[in-house]
Amino acid sequence: MQIILMGPPGAGKGTQAAELVKKFGIPQISTGDMFRAAVNEGTELGKKAAECMKTGALVPDEVTVGIVKERLSKADCAKGFILDGFPRTVDQADSLNKILADLGKNLSAVLNIHVPAEDLIERAVGRRICKNCGSTYHVKFNPSHKENICDNCGGELFQRADDNEETMKNRLSVYENSTRPLIEYYKKAGKYTEIDGRQAIGKVTEEMEKVLSSVED
Ligand code: ADP
Ligand code: AMP
Repeated sequence: MQIILMGPPGAGKGTQAAELVKKFGIPQISTGDMFRAAVNEGTELGKKAAECMKTGALVPDEVTVGIVKERLSKADCAKGFILDGFPRTVDQADSLNKILADLGKNLSAVLNIHVPAEDLIERAVGRRICKNCGSTYHVKFNPSHKENICDNCGGELFQRADDNEETMKNRLSVYENSTRPLIEYYKKAGKYTEIDGRQAIGKVTEEMEKVLSSVED
């Protein structure tokens, strides 16, 4: 199954992708996670991505498409994958069509998590992530049992540098200008479903699994 999880920053893509990984046994491909790993490792890719990520701008399409193309050709993607945070521009979506055609695969579903703009800053600013296993929490909406300690692995939680109000405002405006047009793009292409992301995390997962239970591979 080839799934795209769409939605503005903070909508819950990563949270839901983690659930779908467990359910379907296919990998989550998060371009944001890949860029953050590259920044931490100090690679050439990381150097290219860091400046853009700091301000909330998008990393150039050719760089982003390059890493996705390479990642999707890996053996663990043979049975499918969950794209989280890609595509984010119409050019990236066009490139994804070519990558899928080259791999002989179709898109199975595009799930767009809708959350009103006024909720997104609070979601991002309260987000905490485990340094060790990447599990995502929220200080108010999905807190860990022990403050700053991951329930899953006992790792320490951290706050992303770009999860502050100022950068988030820029990320939301980038979303409006560059990513929102993909809603029409995928509505026209079919296989598009909107999911109400204001529901509790478990309800959102349930709704997604219901949609995915009826899609073709
Ligand atoms: P994205 O990957 O779309 O940027 P995340 O999955 O990281 O978003 O979620 C952003 C923040 O919102 C996290 O702190 C997460 O715990 C919280 N969150 C996710 N889904 C919900 C939900 N349905 N209700 C309330 N908070 C949520
Ligand atoms: P995310 O983890 O999805 O919130 O992404 C964090 C940051 O990584 C974004 O603000 C961008 O700077 C960069 N990024 C992630 N995915 C993409 C993408 N598909 N295209 C361009 N930049 C991206």
